[in-house]
Formats: sequence, structure tokens, C-alpha cells
Amino acid sequence: MLNLVLFGPPGAGKGTQAEFLINTFNLIHISTGELLRSEIAAGTELGKIANQFMAKGELVSDDVVIEMIKGKINDNPEAKGFIFDGFPRTVDQAVALDRLLNEKGTPVSAMLCLEVEKEELINRLLGRGKISGRADDQSQKIIENRIEVYRNKTEPIIEYYSKQNKHHDIKGMGTIEEIAERLIKKVESLYNKQM
Ligand code: ADP
Repeated sequence: MLNLVLFGPPGAGKGTQAEFLINTFNLIHISTGELLRSEIAAGTELGKIANQFMAKGELVSDDVVIEMIKGKINDNPEAKGFIFDGFPRTVDQAVALDRLLNEKGTPVSAMLCLEVEKEELINRLLGRGKISGRADDQSQKIIENRIEVYRNKTEPIIEYYSKQNKHHDIKGMGTIEEIAERLIKKVESLYNKQM
């Protein structure tokens, strides 16, 4: 199986690029942000609690997202592999993911980290907010908080995967197609090495 962690700050383009990767490599896309937004849209208890954190740009608790991931993995026993987008976001989540996947005998293959400058991130998110109406993309203050949370709580995961020799940086600036090509080439080269 090919299990990819698509990593990077808010606005790095994880969701956009995940689309290219799922089509190219026939993988299942798991985005915790999307799963949480559908809980909010459905008006569930979980969604109500999650929304309080998301609206401020804070993280939802590890337990909640880990349960969601577990459910999604178990719902797809025939999967050829998964792309995790927006997960893990804390070292504890990374540890939990390793545990879940190791139980299935199919570990994380690689972590691909999209690198984008802060100014570009803010511009992209404000632009997306105008189109999508996403509450957490509306104000520069909330966006800056999300980037801060990323630096403090999420970035330490890079070291976690580096120690496992699974971390790869990908330049996340340029056109969507250019970035997709870089990612696909990287995955292919890793795949060939595995064979
Ligand atoms: P972005 O990458 O643009 O920040 P996401 O859709 O991935 O957007 O996430 C939106 C929000 O959902 C996050 O700011 C956070 O509040 C919550 N969230 C998503 N994934 C996780 C996670 N793995 N752990 C905790 N909170 C999460």
C-alpha cells in the first residue's frame, strides 16, 4: 500500500494537490478538515464542539480526530492506499496514526511537505475565503493564528518523520500543475526505490 501524509501550513495547497495524487495513484483521500466541516454541516454534537475551535483557528482535540481517522481507515478495507491531508497535526496524532497503520501492517510510506512563504499563504487563504465563505478564512487575525498554531504544534512533526527517513520537502510555490508534477515525480521516485 501507498500511504502518503500530505503536509504543510494552512493554505499550502494540500487539498488541491491531494486531488491530483488520488487520481494518479488511485488512493483514498482523508481530510480531517473536510470530515469536520461535514459534521458541522450535519449539525452533529461533534460538529458543534469542533466548530468552537475551528472558528478561532485552534485545533480540535486529538481524541476526536483520531477516532474519525480510525473510522475512515476501517471503512475502506479494499483501499490501495491513503492520502492523509491535514492529519496528523500534532506529534500525538502522528504517533496514533503509526499505531493504527502498523496494526494493519501498512505503515506511512512518505510525508510530503509543501513549502510556501507566509505572505503567499495569507493571500491564498483570504482569496479562498471570498469564494468559499469558510469562516476561518475570513479574517487575517484568525489566519495568522492558524499559521502560529501550525508553527508551534504541527511543525514538530517534521522531526518525527525525519527520524524515520520519511520526510520530503516539496516547493509549494508556482502553478498548481507545476507543483502537482513535482509531487508526482517525488512519489514515483520513492516508489521505484521501494520496488
Ligand atoms: P487548513 O489546512 O486550510 O487550515 P483544514 O481544512 O485542514 O484547513 O482544517 C480546518 C480546521 O479544522 C483547522 O484549523 C482545525 O481547527 C481543524 N482541524 C483539521 N484537521 C485537524 C486535526 N488533524 N487536528 C485538529 N484539528 C484539526
